[in-house]
Amino acid sequence: MGLVVQKYGGSSVADAEGIKRVAKRVVEAKKHGHQVVVVVSAMGDTTDELIDLAAEVSPVASGRELDMLLTAGERISMALLAMAIKALGHEAQSFTGSQAGVITDSTHNRARIIDVTPGRIQSSVNKGNIAIVAGFQGVSQSSKDITTLGRGGSDTTAVALAAALGAEVCEIYTDVDGVFTADPRVVKRARKIDWISYEDMLELASSGSKVLLHRCVEYARRYNIPIHVRSSFSGLPGTWVSSEPPEQRGQRGQQQQGEHETMEQAIISGVAHDTSEAKVTVVGVPDKPGEAALIFRAIADAEINIDMVVQNVSAAATGLTDISFTLPKSEGRRVIAALERHRAGIGFEALRYDDQVAKISLVGAGMKTNPGVCATFFEALAGAGVNVELISTSEIRISVVTREEEVNDAVRAVHTAFGLDSENDEAVVYGGTGR
Ligand code: ASP
Ligand code: MG
Repeated sequence: MGLVVQKYGGSSVADAEGIKRVAKRVVEAKKHGHQVVVVVSAMGDTTDELIDLAAEVSPVASGRELDMLLTAGERISMALLAMAIKALGHEAQSFTGSQAGVITDSTHNRARIIDVTPGRIQSSVNKGNIAIVAGFQGVSQSSKDITTLGRGGSDTTAVALAAALGAEVCEIYTDVDGVFTADPRVVKRARKIDWISYEDMLELASSGSKVLLHRCVEYARRYNIPIHVRSSFSGLPGTWVSSEPPEQRGQRGQQQQGEHETMEQAIISGVAHDTSEAKVTVVGVPDKPGEAALIFRAIADAEINIDMVVQNVSAAATGLTDISFTLPKSEGRRVIAALERHRAGIGFEALRYDDQVAKISLVGAGMKTNPGVCATFFEALAGAGVNVELISTSEIRISVVTREEEVNDAVRAVHTAFGLDSENDEAVVYGGTGR
């Protein structure tokens, strides 16, 4: 049996009880004969609390010192978990991100991993220890300063370590039983997905699904690391994210013999929604070459990432058109300022900013080869009385922007229309404040 990396999120290690429960589970994996490396997040809402605390002493806390502060959260959990494992009579050692060899670039608060040199971790597990690693952090190769990987970054730590250690699987333990066909907090009848491809998972992640971060899935796909997303509360088999269904992977992970016989790619993987974006409309843009280029250059120069873009055909009489796009609400102020600065050069009539919107996306590789998916999607929205404001598509995704207050109805209607509702309410949310 080989090495497994297990990652436990903040809600799984929220208090002493949680840490003891996780310790038992980790020890179980060790008893099954695996070498075990564990990555932990900060306890509960610790990271948010530390950010609030920093804001109280300084309105501009960021960069190096904020990273120093935030990495403390994961260090608390790693040491406590190592203690709890020792209390069960097993050997454990904890390591900070930099001790574990997580090397990053020097961008504070959202560093990227550029290399992982896990020599100390490997030798610790070779000696029979369970190695515990603080997630979400690393050390900059050039400045030697401590960095963090951006919110939710512990998943990426886990996958990166799994790749560097040649692990069989990266198990991500969270407060739900896996990846669901919709957010179980919104759709009671959401169904757990047994297996999903990296591609569909990437689309779900970029469409607002929060169970796995896009960056972590991207990393897993690049190194072909199978991810098993599951609950630390229930012990049920969760969702496998990998390049192909894991039928032949009989020995991998735990508790999964005979579970995968019926796994196959569904036509539709799921429905994701996102209420974190706003919509900007540039009204009355002259319909001539170069206008869109001016607008999007102004936005790019302000280093703002945008998502959906839609341009309407101009009314022949006016020769003017409207261009709409979506972007994170947090960038709203900056984008308006950037466009206002270039108003004269671009020559538009007005700017409209709307943050009461939501994006709903249907994802599934099967839509490439199944006609009628689009029609069913829009009929479901129509049936729920939901008005569509923007539409965008990729090969394996359809997204629409609607009013924010309609988002839950829209998601439920689409979920039902594609036959995704489970017969029983199996979607349980075990923990977390959703903060
Ligand atoms: N503790 C960090 C956060 O809350 C990292 C993580 O949980 O993955 O964002
Ligand atoms: Mg967290």
